[in-house]
Amino acid sequence: MAISITEALDIIYQNTSAVSTEILPIEASLGRIVAEDYIAKFDLPGFDNSAMDGYAVKCADAGKTVDCNEVLYAGDTPKTNLKQGCAIKIMTGAPIPEGCEAIVPIEKIKIRGNQVMLPASIENGAHIRHAGEDIKNGIPYLHKGEKVNAYSIALLASQGVTHIMVRRKIKVSVFGTGDELRSHFEKIAPHQLYNSNTPMFLARAEELGCEVRYIGNSGDSIDSLKKMIAAAIDSDIILTSGGVSMGDKDFTKEAFGELGMKTHFSQVEIKPGKPTSYGKIKESAIVNLPGNPLASMVNYEIFVCALIAKMSGANAHYHGTISTQIAHDYQLRGGKYTACLGYFDGTSFAPLSQQLPGMVSPMHKANAMIITTPNLKFLQKGSTVKIIPIGWNMHRCQKEDFFTK
Ligand code: AMP
Ligand code: MG
Repeated sequence: MAISITEALDIIYQNTSAVSTEILPIEASLGRIVAEDYIAKFDLPGFDNSAMDGYAVKCADAGKTVDCNEVLYAGDTPKTNLKQGCAIKIMTGAPIPEGCEAIVPIEKIKIRGNQVMLPASIENGAHIRHAGEDIKNGIPYLHKGEKVNAYSIALLASQGVTHIMVRRKIKVSVFGTGDELRSHFEKIAPHQLYNSNTPMFLARAEELGCEVRYIGNSGDSIDSLKKMIAAAIDSDIILTSGGVSMGDKDFTKEAFGELGMKTHFSQVEIKPGKPTSYGKIKESAIVNLPGNPLASMVNYEIFVCALIAKMSGANAHYHGTISTQIAHDYQLRGGKYTACLGYFDGTSFAPLSQQLPGMVSPMHKANAMIITTPNLKFLQKGSTVKIIPIGWNMHRCQKEDFFTK
């Protein structure tokens, strides 16, 4: 029996745990999910320092002309205390000398030999960066479940961290099914077809940070399918397309069943892609997607992306949406939960005019989709839709209702 999209996603989330961890140099951790909290071991900045090239002064000397016989550069250690009637020239990043109350930027003073004329008013603490104002010793600055990006690497480097514990890459194996299929690097006869789903699935998984393996094309026989499954079985995720509907040679689910797959769902109330199924053989998660390219893509975006996000250990693993308006009137059949591909240009979402389940070309044109509820039959130009991004994401830590009603 077909279950709802929401139920299917919940089953995936509940049955998926994060992959194991590994330790990597921070430079090699880009895109990985952090596996433990990182706590600051010292203040950043580590000491009070100057935010400007200028003069270290006392506030009481405002409006006066004071002596200046010393310069402090970034990296220096201050040797003298600042006394009233004196200034110390100081560069950005240099430590604040004892007794200094403010920094006056160079452009605000007048120089006469080794004397400087200070402005009429000087605010206490001006242009001083205080120890720990950026990161306080003892606080977590990077959290378990966050994705490493260039800025997390900056944080880690600023704390002198060389290695980080992250989730390992998810291993994804993919094969296509269908006697008519040939790989894109082979010659094909009339009535045969290039397998476009398998390279697409692999590329998308790679885009999502997985380690991918191309298994091949299975013929439409239980034996051939079982060979492919056996070759893929050591993976975290096995993805297939085709052979899951009502055809005489649709043996995919049967073959997986014979090899011990525990099926969690075998049909979803969604158009296109109702026969999408999900289950497990031991620890390997299996998603059998439909053969029709666009149908497989839509269900990949909804279910496989959710599975990968959860397995990656990311806190933000739920689909998130952007509310925008539809670019033109859109007529729907209604009666079913329906995924509709389209293009979001930053202002509105335009559904693609041609998008049939067996097509390949619309997928390339889409950067978002909406999923409409069965009661919705018409969307007037300008009405609000919730788009789910494709190829970029708005993943959230909390569940969101992503249906356009
Ligand atoms: P099936 O689900 O096996 O009945 O396949 C449905 C349709 O999708 C048929 O027209 C297949 O030829 C086509 N198809 C199946 N697998 C692929 C694939 N890997 N790449 C492109 N088209 C496919
Ligand atoms: Mg087939």
